[in-house]
Amino acid sequence: MLHLKNLIREIPDWPKPGILFYDITTLMKDGTGFSEVIHGLTSAVRAEEVDVVIGIEARGFFFAPTVAHSLGKGFVPVRKPKKLPAAVEAVEYALEYGTDKLEIHQDAIQPGQRVLIVDDVLATGGTAAAVASLVEQLGGTVAALSFVIELDFLDGRRKLGGRPIHSLLHY
Ligand code: AMP
Repeated sequence: MLHLKNLIREIPDWPKPGILFYDITTLMKDGTGFSEVIHGLTSAVRAEEVDVVIGIEARGFFFAPTVAHSLGKGFVPVRKPKKLPAAVEAVEYALEYGTDKLEIHQDAIQPGQRVLIVDDVLATGGTAAAVASLVEQLGGTVAALSFVIELDFLDGRRKLGGRPIHSLLHY
């Protein structure tokens, strides 16, 4: 898996000074690299008895539907506000400055379903923790959370409590 790091482009000071941005588009355009990532994300959760896979807008959408397809399960989008057309459940969460909001269709998760949450990067954990609470607000259970990249020094895991976390690459 470590050779996958060579396919990820690192962009200093983007989108703002002090942030080292991990650009996974360079990994995704490599056929072998992309296939290894999907295989890695999928095999890590085979034992978790997942019923449905959530992707977080926007970069979670790059991976979650393919992981869902590999597991033979359905895909559910969690989106930025005012994108989903039917009745939604919403969660607001804190950013470095201000707040952000994410939404899911109210009927997207059935009570008792075991949900896998997929995103590209686990940084501070605020986004993933918000999505985990959305799932639980709808009566679902978070079976696991999967990330291509985890930024260990930000300790995002702490915000996710004891929920199972599978990250392919650690920085
Ligand atoms: P957080 O809520 O802090 O865990 O941030 C997670 C979200 O921000 C993910 O959806 C990532 O797409 C994005 N993100 C945060 N930090 C980075 C980074 N250094 N490189 C790429 N994406 C990042």
